[in-house]
Amino acid sequence: DLLANKIAAGEVVERPASVIKELLENAIDAQSSTIAVEIEQGGLDLIKVSDDGIGMGTEDALKAFERHATSKIRTDKDLFRIRTLGFRGEALPSIASVAKVEVKTRTQEANEGMRVVIEGGKLVAHEVCAAKKGTEIAVRDLFYNTPARLKYLKSIQTELGHVLDYVNRMALAHPHISFRLYHNGRQVIQTPGDGKLLHAVAAIYGSDLARQMVQVQWETYDYKIEGVAGFPELNRANRNHCSFFINGRFVKSYQLLNAVQSAYHTLLPINRYPVVVLSLTLDPGLVDVNVHPNKLEVRFSQEKDVMAAVQQAVEEALKGQTF
Ligand code: ADP
Ligand code: MG
Repeated sequence: DLLANKIAAGEVVERPASVIKELLENAIDAQSSTIAVEIEQGGLDLIKVSDDGIGMGTEDALKAFERHATSKIRTDKDLFRIRTLGFRGEALPSIASVAKVEVKTRTQEANEGMRVVIEGGKLVAHEVCAAKKGTEIAVRDLFYNTPARLKYLKSIQTELGHVLDYVNRMALAHPHISFRLYHNGRQVIQTPGDGKLLHAVAAIYGSDLARQMVQVQWETYDYKIEGVAGFPELNRANRNHCSFFINGRFVKSYQLLNAVQSAYHTLLPINRYPVVVLSLTLDPGLVDVNVHPNKLEVRFSQEKDVMAAVQQAVEEALKGQTF
């Protein structure tokens, strides 16, 4: 119902960047290889995400806006072995309850697509139509019906900054997907999507920085740790330049930040944050991502082990490097 969706929106949808996060997660779960994000006025006027993924059937396109309608969890067991980025089935109904949403989608097999328009949680239009394969979701006038939220939003520049952060992270987590971001018609991000993390890093942080990075590659029976680590004396490095992904999901973790810092600490006496991008792959049963609706926090069942492995992986990569 509308009220429950609006309440959920309060938790999930904080600002344009959180809308983009949810739409990108859906596009990634849909196995897209190219994703374009277009925003206007920092996302306050328009957020449009287009993908070339599996798309939705005509009925599924309508169902997607029902609360807890997820196609990704079928049994209780799935909840403890989450491999997709989404699983709560809350994002679309929440977003649609506080904005004007238009979806155009077509599955790879279908001859025709579906268009659904929902404004403030109310179904305004739905019709079979011509559509490209994949899904395009446009979100207009975010928070138009929740003035308190709208007032809380910061300047266009600030909102754009948050959007850039998210798109950058998503692009780093998924180097096999090509991401593009346009702000007011101007392209601001483009990654090649060739599967090479270093190329994604070069597209985002610049090729000078990418050239100076070392590869992190560490595998044990339980964990795979891959990524790149840069030199800490670069001026632009701060704690936001340490990105961690667990099974493809961006996470915030002071423990992981500490593990990385410890690795650098043994080599360098300075207290700086380097540019580090690390992807951890581990059994989804060993990590709980269902801590908060925004899915940013995680809990590990063997935290000490994980942190030790991460520190070792980075130390190993930095060995023999001169700074
Ligand atoms: P969740 O991602 O947790 O399943 P959402 O509310 O984000 O819930 O999305 C609801 C459903 O809509 C998804 O489970 C999926 O079936 C469908 N969906 C949403 N976005 C896309 C997309 N870009 N491509 C294909 N299907 C999508
Ligand atoms: Mg989702």
